[in-house]
Amino acid sequence: MTLTHHISDEILLSYAAGALPEAFGVVVASHISLCDDCRARMTGFDALGGAILERETGQPVTDTQLGEMLTLIAHLPQDSAAARPSTRSATPKKLSQGQLPAPLCDYVGERLDSLPWRAVGGGVRQYVLPTKGTARARMLYIPAGTKIPDHGHGGMELTLVLQGSYHDADDSFGPGDIDIAGADTQHTPVAAENMPCICLTATDAPLRFRGLLPRVVQSFLRI
Ligand SMILES: [Zn+2]
Repeated sequence: MTLTHHISDEILLSYAAGALPEAFGVVVASHISLCDDCRARMTGFDALGGAILERETGQPVTDTQLGEMLTLIAHLPQDSAAARPSTRSATPKKLSQGQLPAPLCDYVGERLDSLPWRAVGGGVRQYVLPTKGTARARMLYIPAGTKIPDHGHGGMELTLVLQGSYHDADDSFGPGDIDIAGADTQHTPVAAENMPCICLTATDAPLRFRGLLPRVVQSFLRI
């Protein structure tokens, strides 16, 4: 699988520091299990994050500290960043049909077809993962060619494609790819015509669906 969309340094660093809500952690861990590139960067962040945490226990990392860390990381020798084997790499690098990344299996079991999906209208189905905190992680099943209701984001949304693909205004996302949408993003993803798209998303604030029908969808989704 060719991965073209990866996790940002900021999100990886937050994950390494243990600062990400559990819902986002599942998405990050699942991508890392499939992606050599992000796993190597993560290994570097892990080491530096540990050092920072020791020094700054309980304190959020400031922009200045973050900048310093990213500079340090950028100058790490490639070999040292990849030297430590990751404990999160149990999943085979390629997802076969219906297979899920190992970190996600801890929440939803091994197989997509045994998941207790819930219909939310328009053929879209979802399963909300049992994670702690206010951020929500959910599996979404989007029928081929189906548009996801237009919405803005109250906070960050992180999406990992598990099966099929979707395209946005000017980009497309396939299995293993990460899509990061910020608070000011207005996007309208559409699943590819050839097969349903299944993805894992984490959101940290209610989505603001626009229009009456989408609001009904929103109440169904409980987001
Ligand atoms: Zn990656």
